[in-house]
Amino acid sequence: MKIPDQKLPVGILGATGSVGQKFIELLQGHPWFTITALAASERSAGKLYKHAVNWFQQAPLPPRIANMMVSACVPDLPCRIVFSGLDAAVAGPIEEAFAEAGYIVISNAKNHRMSETVPLLIPEVNPDHLDLVRKQHCKGMIVTNPNCSTTGLVMALKPLHDLFGIEKVFVVTHQALSGAGYPGVSSLDIIDNMIPYIGGEEEKMQIEPLKLLGTLEEGGKVDFANIAISAQCNRVAVTNGHMESVSLKFRSPVKKEAIIQAWRDFRALPQELELPFAPNPPLYYFDDPRYPQPRLHRDLGNGMAVSLGRLRDCTILDVKFTVLSHNTVRGAAGGAILNAELLVKKGYHEEH
Ligand code: NAP
Repeated sequence: MKIPDQKLPVGILGATGSVGQKFIELLQGHPWFTITALAASERSAGKLYKHAVNWFQQAPLPPRIANMMVSACVPDLPCRIVFSGLDAAVAGPIEEAFAEAGYIVISNAKNHRMSETVPLLIPEVNPDHLDLVRKQHCKGMIVTNPNCSTTGLVMALKPLHDLFGIEKVFVVTHQALSGAGYPGVSSLDIIDNMIPYIGGEEEKMQIEPLKLLGTLEEGGKVDFANIAISAQCNRVAVTNGHMESVSLKFRSPVKKEAIIQAWRDFRALPQELELPFAPNPPLYYFDDPRYPQPRLHRDLGNGMAVSLGRLRDCTILDVKFTVLSHNTVRGAAGGAILNAELLVKKGYHEEH
């Protein structure tokens, strides 16, 4: 188990976008990583970052970053690890080119998530899946994190599936605007409104949890979890924080007290290893039936914790409850940083 002696240089692909900006904000003062490269499209390349970006994070744009030159997304950046917040329309071939050239690509994009040799990773859920990188035939590697609404759901399901076995999940999401990137959904479309469609989202929520909760077999293949999931995804006028209303059926009867205890007791490898971005506890259960709420609770554990509440009987399945998680922190940049921390702590960056 290693902690780097000196900070590791990292680059950000898609540095001007919503997730790219969040990477910059979150990596300020990181104990292991320092940003040495910023890359985006040809529209931004060759400009100072402050002239290329429309900065909309709460923290001011750090002066060192503001005056860095934006590069094109070609694999000649002065770093070994790159975080990718690239638009999915272009992420596939760019991330592959970086991995071929020897870079460690920690991606948020959907393109490689379901590839057999690419870990789809939540360090609290399936840290052993990181081993899949050994099956990748390139000088570098690609590691992905899940879709932002999948992350909160699977964090809530993980201790329950391990202890009791889950058979069916029915989930309805209420997803924040920042999940659509910037400028995202037009104000005239969303003010005083709700949109019952997010392209591709339901399909991702129905398949990604099965890989995350699956078992890594001896031969290095993931045996997907056998859970039936039905998802309905909605966009709502909240800036950050995806809320989800979940109903589920267990393989055998489980008491509600045991479920709450399982959530409250849950700790995993990132907490044990004390990774810098690991929230402790990772899950909060609220007894107050008005909670969790996006504005009040999305920043718990620096935006890395998942909030839960309203556990009650379900008249169709067994129980139902509410999940909240920060979509651009736990569901995107923060989750990717935690993935990189696990990879470094386990020494994978020194193997390839
Ligand atoms: P975004 O705000 O639209 O940013 C896209 C980034 O990609 C920008 O930096 C843009 O650079 C760059 N880009 C676009 N075309 C490019 C090209 N041809 N070559 C190189 N770079 C190019 O999107 P986002 O919301 O940050 O999302 C980024 C990725 O993360 C997506 O794949 C998304 O699905 C995923 N994701 C997002 C969230 C979320 O909550 N927002 C959560 C999980 C996952 P320019 O500024 O130069 O155009």
